[in-house]
Amino acid sequence: MVSRTIPVEEFDLVIFGATGDLAQRKILPSLFRRFCAGQMPEGARVIGAARSEHDTKGYRAFVRAALKEHGDTAGVKPADFTAFLEQIEYVTLDAKGAAGWKELKALCDRDVVHAFYFSVGPSLFEDLAKRLHKHGLAGEECRIVVEKPFGRDLESARALNAALRTHFDEGQIYRIDHYLGKETVQNLMAVRFGNMLFEPLWNSQYIDHIQITVAETVGVAGRGEYYDRAGAMRDMVQNHIMQLLCLIAMEPPARFEPDAVRDEKLKVIRALEPVAPDELVRGQYEAGDDTPGYAEDVGEAEASSESFIALKAHISNWRWAGTPFYMRTGKRLKERASEIAVVFKDTPHSIFDEDAGRHRNILTIRLQPNEGIELGVTIKEPGPGGMRLIDVPLDMSFAEALGPEAGDVADAYERLIMDVIRGNQTLFMRDDEVEAAWGWTDPIIAGWQERGDAPLTYAPGSSGPHDALMLMHQDGRRWREIKA
Ligand code: NAP
Repeated sequence: MVSRTIPVEEFDLVIFGATGDLAQRKILPSLFRRFCAGQMPEGARVIGAARSEHDTKGYRAFVRAALKEHGDTAGVKPADFTAFLEQIEYVTLDAKGAAGWKELKALCDRDVVHAFYFSVGPSLFEDLAKRLHKHGLAGEECRIVVEKPFGRDLESARALNAALRTHFDEGQIYRIDHYLGKETVQNLMAVRFGNMLFEPLWNSQYIDHIQITVAETVGVAGRGEYYDRAGAMRDMVQNHIMQLLCLIAMEPPARFEPDAVRDEKLKVIRALEPVAPDELVRGQYEAGDDTPGYAEDVGEAEASSESFIALKAHISNWRWAGTPFYMRTGKRLKERASEIAVVFKDTPHSIFDEDAGRHRNILTIRLQPNEGIELGVTIKEPGPGGMRLIDVPLDMSFAEALGPEAGDVADAYERLIMDVIRGNQTLFMRDDEVEAAWGWTDPIIAGWQERGDAPLTYAPGSSGPHDALMLMHQDGRRWREIKA
């Protein structure tokens, strides 16, 4: 099977924050992979911009080092490196001052698609938008890509949306959530809307509950200060997990087009019920034998945010009334594993003896590691000895099903950056979606703040606080094991 590379138009991609962590680990390696795949046209240019003093030659050396460290460079010919680097320029520029803007304007003065990637801290988003406009760089053909976090509550998200829309139309603003660029996440839509098999069963009549887990083994060291101001609810639930929830729960859009898809996602968020205090559990990891605890990682004795959260959400609409959505995410858990599990109900009547056992179908969408989709079906245990039932997986692991090309599944950033160049906003969040997500999140946070609820502790390498297990046990359900 051969993956198709659809060429894009000639472009200038300006990376503000071109010397930062995200640029080095994700944006530049993604562009290099697209270059190697033949998707970057010859005249396309990547223009790095940051305050650090580099000339273009110096920045190319910086990019080369970043690619060597973070990129997929095994087997790449030296000529490919050189050819890619020749498409890179650099401008020393200050988002908050006048330095560098005239030079950037001069570099961008040509008739191609212009994309400006805001890979800088959120406090600079507004400055960049303002200066792009002031220097005549905010024309109709340009796009801006805005990184997370997009606000820290509804009020700040609204203010940021308003500030960006002063200079750009909504159709020019690409709010990035890299979860939406993952192959499996898009496959979720293909599986739901491209097969007759699932959609008729995709409702509360047949689905008992849905679990979404995003588990990490790392702690927050290195970004503790930011993290403690956010916590897992703001850092993961309001954006990534909310987006997964939307794609699982939304109605079929009339067409696979940006606004049709985003309209349906928005309806899901608007149908979310408030979360009751006993429907959520927050936690902080303790110190382990060799690992510091959360408070030490964030450098504060009174660290107040959660490194773990589990909650139960209800979507009040015809399709989902009565089917709970359990979501959990956390740091320093036992494995790095993310999945969505759609747990179907028991058959209404079993024709088999009790000894045969009863089983449920579970559709699992694995986001990491080993992206893939698995359907658990019940069959007879082979061999003599009567009718005993067992579960076996119908496994659509991309690596196995699609052959060597699957190992080459594009990184989420590759796909999303190319979508920006193509002008396709389907996988980017719209202003009203982001605001609606904060509108649901804010009262939950305000609730625990008003009650003065402190996070519970949990052991590093565990599945989170014991109360998170009870959140499901009290409903007669259980979390799936967190396993890679
Ligand atoms: P970072 O490592 O701190 O890099 C920040 C970049 O901004 C640097 O290149 C810095 O370069 C530049 N910068 C700072 N002040 C500037 C100014 N006044 N004018 C022009 N450039 C300026 O941050 P990061 O981790 O790359 O994150 C960038 C953005 O992506 C943030 O919004 C972050 O929340 C988001 N994000 C990051 C990740 C990640 O994995 N790193 C993941 C998701 C989202 P100079 O000092 O040379 O100016």
